[in-house]
Amino acid sequence: MNDDQLLRYSRHILLDEIGIEGQERILASHVLIIGAGGLGSPAALYLGSAGVGRITLVDDDTVDMTNLQRQIAHTTDRVGSAKVESIRSAVQAINPGANVACVQRRADQDLLDELVPQANVVLDCTDNYRTRHLINAACVRHRIPLVAGAALRLDGQLMVIDPRDPDCACYACVFSPDAEFEEIQCSTMGVFSPVVGVIGSLQAAEALKLLAGFGHPATRRLVMFDSASQDWSSMQTNRTLDCPVCARKA
Ligand SMILES: [Zn+2]
Repeated sequence: MNDDQLLRYSRHILLDEIGIEGQERILASHVLIIGAGGLGSPAALYLGSAGVGRITLVDDDTVDMTNLQRQIAHTTDRVGSAKVESIRSAVQAINPGANVACVQRRADQDLLDELVPQANVVLDCTDNYRTRHLINAACVRHRIPLVAGAALRLDGQLMVIDPRDPDCACYACVFSPDAEFEEIQCSTMGVFSPVVGVIGSLQAAEALKLLAGFGHPATRRLVMFDSASQDWSSMQTNRTLDCPVCARKA
């Protein structure tokens, strides 16, 4: 680390859990963030400011006026711009040393098979049930840890899936990929703006813990947040023996 970096990251370096070594691991890491909206905004801002060396952002959408109530990396003058480019500008304004790559495409299986193996940690910041399952399957296939967040109306959810942990449930163990599921999205249901900030920030925290190698990741459970009652709860998750995604083939 050079002098600028020692100064910039000094409050991380002071933490026993991170120190110089942990910060160097963060600087050398690559995080893939899929979704550049309400969750992706705070997640990318925290990961970029914390010194993640490489961030790849994937989203095919452009900034819309209705996004600005909660997608805090975007600005009024960037309405109409690509969301991935808008987040890159926001991250680099804070940390010019952050190397942010933009992929303005919808995440499909081919793209995920190309990008997931290059990352140390993947963040699912999407709001689409089908894409969530594609991301989970790609992370299980390539054995890359996944931090999945979700927010809708007044509620948020967080789940960390570490395919390297033999007892860790994957997303498909908990939410069946075959379930008939009506897509419920913020565009029709609404979302309380700080909830995406809380969950996106927690996704960044879980990613940094995995990268620096301290604490205990929130694996083997589904964490749920109800902002109306300020109530946090978590449900233990178990691997499903016949999970179509992570069950070991005999
Ligand atoms: Zn599974």
